[in-house]
Amino acid sequence: MIPEEEIREIFSHLKALILIHEEMGMEPPRLSAEDLRYLEGNAALPRDNPGALGHLDTLEALKAFIGECQRCKLCRGRTNLVFGEGSPRARLMFVGEGPGREEDKVGKPFVGEAGRLLTRIIEAMGLTREGVYICNVVKCRPPKNRDPERDEIDTCIPFMKRQIDIIMPEVICILGRVAGKVILGDGFKVTRDRGKWHRYGDIAVMPTFHPAYLLRNLSAKRHVWEDVKKIMSRLGLEVKKID
Ligand code: URA
Repeated sequence: MIPEEEIREIFSHLKALILIHEEMGMEPPRLSAEDLRYLEGNAALPRDNPGALGHLDTLEALKAFIGECQRCKLCRGRTNLVFGEGSPRARLMFVGEGPGREEDKVGKPFVGEAGRLLTRIIEAMGLTREGVYICNVVKCRPPKNRDPERDEIDTCIPFMKRQIDIIMPEVICILGRVAGKVILGDGFKVTRDRGKWHRYGDIAVMPTFHPAYLLRNLSAKRHVWEDVKKIMSRLGLEVKKID
């Protein structure tokens, strides 16, 4: 990845070169389509600045812009980038941490064991995966499913923020510690902050345990169901039972 400062420097050299050519009455050098693709594919986005993507007003346009991303080191180990899926008009958006092995293989979020549990939770809410939106804070699988690192999160997070801005869900359900810290700040603690309403701009946010944690801690299921019921009542959904 080329650091942002270096990109700026390259552009300022190009500008100077063009000005010199103009002054001398010569044809300025041109960048080939390949050069442009290389620069675009490698340029770091301005940190934490979803505004920089403001011109991308559909999920398809955002996905195309991300392309075969090489903006951070996670690209080296991925098979598929996992953009996210679901309804662009979803009232409810789930945000997890990052793709795991299964997700990386098929390019879809939450399709492994934890994903099947998330699907059951969504269905117990009377919803479908197609009717909600599901994505992650990083779009490529971290090696050995480690937590995404700061630079990887910083590079990828404008994309998740833009997904939120495009969809404008009524509720975001944060799945676990990593997404909680990214969306609500470093002070986030899942055991303390789950089950309470928070805000991300104008959007109501409900953090809960990550489904992978539920697979290891069955007793946490009832907490998740409590949290999910709060989301359902906020969305005016009829609360039924969950197994
Ligand atoms: N865990 C996540 O956080 N996201 C996925 O997509 C799958 C597992």
